Amino acid sequence: MQHKISIWPVIVVLLVVVSMMGMSTSGGRQRSIDEIIVHCTATPAGREVTVADIDRWHRQRGFRRIGYHYVVYLNGSIHPGRPVHEVGAHCIGHNTHSIGICYIGGLSTDGHHVEDTRTEAQRLALRALLMELKRRYPHAVIRSHRDFSSKACPCFDATKEYLNLSNTTLQ
Ligand SMILES: [Zn+2]
Repeated sequence: MQHKISIWPVIVVLLVVVSMMGMSTSGGRQRSIDEIIVHCTATPAGREVTVADIDRWHRQRGFRRIGYHYVVYLNGSIHPGRPVHEVGAHCIGHNTHSIGICYIGGLSTDGHHVEDTRTEAQRLALRALLMELKRRYPHAVIRSHRDFSSKACPCFDATKEYLNLSNTTLQ
């Protein structure tokens, strides 16, 4: 019981925050979205990485800015990246009709092994973000980057974990 009482207010707050972020970043323009693709930064467990860091890495790779639309920090806070109305740069062949979300982590502390390093706060935030995106794009399915790539990203089976949510139409 203690567990449930402590977690639900967090989810409600997250949903409100995500809703507000959506209103401020949609710009009134809509893309047709049929996939939400989950990524990780492939950085060691516990290492703080910011949107600014990812933005810098992606610009170094020739992107015009960060390629993901949302980033989930270790503390569970959700940060906007590339505006949702802009096509992302996160999954070859799938960018036009998808939204890319990324959590910080994905490698063991020594950086040598693929690992599901999501903190409890990140797990809650990811699910809250995905629920909000499913409300906005009811027909979008949730997939792992690795479904479309030889990479291990996002270092857990997002397609399987979120399958029920994927198949649900939230209004
Ligand atoms: Zn990825």
